[in-house]
Amino acid sequence: MRRSTRLIVHDAAPGDPHRPTATPIHQTATFHQTSAVETGSYDYTRSGNPTRHVLERRLAQLEGADHGFCFSSGLAALEATVQAARRVRGPGPFTVLAGLDLYGGTLRMLERVLPIQGIEVRRVDTRDPAVLRDALDGSVGLVLCETPTNPLLEISDLGTLGKLCREAGAPLAVDNSLLSPWLQCPLELGADLVIHSVTKHLAGHGDATGGAVLCREGGLARELGFLQNAVGNGLAPFECWLGLRGLGTLGLRIERAQSSAQRVAEFLVEHPDVQRVHYPGLPKHPGAELHRRQARGAGSILSFEVADAETARRVVESTALFVIAVSFGALESRISLPVHMSHASVKGRGEGVVGPRLVRLSIGMEDPDDLVEDLAGSLDRASFRSASKEAPRPAARS
Ligand SMILES: *Cc1c(COP(=O)(O)O)cnc(C)c1O
Repeated sequence: MRRSTRLIVHDAAPGDPHRPTATPIHQTATFHQTSAVETGSYDYTRSGNPTRHVLERRLAQLEGADHGFCFSSGLAALEATVQAARRVRGPGPFTVLAGLDLYGGTLRMLERVLPIQGIEVRRVDTRDPAVLRDALDGSVGLVLCETPTNPLLEISDLGTLGKLCREAGAPLAVDNSLLSPWLQCPLELGADLVIHSVTKHLAGHGDATGGAVLCREGGLARELGFLQNAVGNGLAPFECWLGLRGLGTLGLRIERAQSSAQRVAEFLVEHPDVQRVHYPGLPKHPGAELHRRQARGAGSILSFEVADAETARRVVESTALFVIAVSFGALESRISLPVHMSHASVKGRGEGVVGPRLVRLSIGMEDPDDLVEDLAGSLDRASFRSASKEAPRPAARS
């Protein structure tokens, strides 16, 4: 079966005698047991639920994994991944080696949750294999990265990272939320675990929160299953159903948004008030060639830099079609200032690369001509108003 067909053809309700074509929402906490000493396939929704299992199986299949586990959010999935890796490692020092540019909520967990649990977190530039090799000492029990990263769209070489991690005996977890398995399958490239914010492209309509971890057979899978039941952070049946409803159109949505994103990126890169565009679909992006080798497209998220913080804010606030909102992968296009929104909780990064001049876009399903016209108007209005207030004129694009 080809990929588009695989999104459609599947058993929506395994074992259901009525053969429904859509997966039913099994909105029940408990299941009748066959006797006092035996359970059937399910006994309690925290431990397992048929709606959740269909979603978990489908996501595992799309990522080329043996097992899938759905959690209450992407962050719950990330936290479960860390705890599972720690349990596999056993007692003793445990270090998470994480990439530099990561989703703001992930950074908050790394900086403010894990350390008080006795987990050391070290940050490395995963784009540089030599740096990673040096950092991989015996205490490292998990390596975590995004590629492309959110919001700077930096690219790491998953094949090389996977090889280094295997040699060091540390599992490699890749947060694949930005692309989805439609565009990139990290397990096939060398990762041991794939993490998703189901909230984003997978559910795809901006109306559900969820997360997932996909992995191969083995200790990590056993621990993830154990934790999902033991901690009680599994995804609820209705949210699982929303995830399943989104999957059928995953390919259509991503292809549409991606072709519009390419148009928007090409428009921005030529615009005199835009200093830099971060999008791996542009030939001049430093990771473009590597990205082309490991992914089937550049996706629908991009970011760009304008002259100053004030202009960035005006651009965001004067678009008509782009919704000012965090998150991405919804039907409508979104615009945000990461430094104040998705990455607001990140300490001491305001003057760094994720600075106040950076604007992030998530491209949706609208007509790309409307999106480009809207951005053109908003860039004009933003620089006109900055100029009239005698703010510095935007420097020439580099
Ligand atoms: C949104 C996001 C998360 C967190 O997912 P939630 O569902 O919001 O908890 C993690 N990683 C990336 C890359 C994200 O964009």
